[in-house]
Amino acid sequence: MVFLMYHELELPARPLCRTEPGYVRYVLTVANFQAEMGWLRTAGWRGLSVSEALTFDGGNAAVAITFDDGSETDLTSAATILKEHGFGATFYATAGFIGTQGYMSRAQLRQLKESGFEIGSHSMTHRYLSDLDDAGVHEELFESKHRLEEILGEAIRHFSCPGGRYDRRVAALAREAGYVTVANSRARVNLRSSDCYTLGRVAIMRETNLADFQNICAGRELWKIELRDSIRSAAKRVLGNRLYDSVRERALLRSRSG
Ligand SMILES: [Zn+2]
Repeated sequence: MVFLMYHELELPARPLCRTEPGYVRYVLTVANFQAEMGWLRTAGWRGLSVSEALTFDGGNAAVAITFDDGSETDLTSAATILKEHGFGATFYATAGFIGTQGYMSRAQLRQLKESGFEIGSHSMTHRYLSDLDDAGVHEELFESKHRLEEILGEAIRHFSCPGGRYDRRVAALAREAGYVTVANSRARVNLRSSDCYTLGRVAIMRETNLADFQNICAGRELWKIELRDSIRSAAKRVLGNRLYDSVRERALLRSRSG
C-alpha cells in the first residue's frame, strides 16, 4: 500500500507557517487536496490511518493518508474534507510546535483526535534525527511521545521522521520508546512484509498534478521519484543537511526570480 504524505494546506488570505520555497513546495492548496480526495472516492479507493493500514485486509484499493508537522489546517481544512469522504488519516504533530503561530493548540489537537483521527509524533523540535547524537535522538522520540500522550490521554504509537531523515539508531530507539511504526519519506510501496520501522511515504507536492497523483496511489513509477530523491540525498551526504538546505533555498529562489 502507498502511504501519502501531506503538510500544511494553503487557504486564501491565510499566511503559511513558513514561507521559504523549500517549505512551500510541500504545501498544497485546499482546492487541490479536495480534488485528490474527490478522485480517490469516485474511483472507489479507501483512505486509511496508519493503524488501519496495518490491519487492512486488502479487500479493495486503499492508500494511507498522513500529514506532518501539526499545522492548524490539519484540523480546519484537511479533517473536514477527509470526513466528507469518509477517510481516516494519521496526523503527525511536532510536539514542540503545539500552540505556536499557525500550528494546532492543545485543544485543537484533542478535537482532531475526538473527531476520529489518529495522532502520531513528528518529534519534539523537528531537528533531523540523522544530525543528532544518541541522546538527541532519544529526546526527540521519547519526549514528544510523552508530551502528546499527556495532552491526548492515549498512547502514541506512530512516529514520522522530520525531513524524512533517519538512520539505524532510529528504529531501535523508537521500538524502545514504544512506537509500533516509523515512517520516513522514501517513495516506495509498503508491503505486509515491510519493516514497520522504515515505512516509506510519497510526498504529495504543490506541483503534483492529478495524473501524477493517480500514478502515485497505484504505486506506478515510484522509481522515478525515488531516483530523484536519491540524487538529492547523495547531495545531502556530500554537503551535510544544513548546507544542502541553504544551497537548495538559493537555487529555488534563483529559479523563481529567473
Ligand atoms: Zn516535518
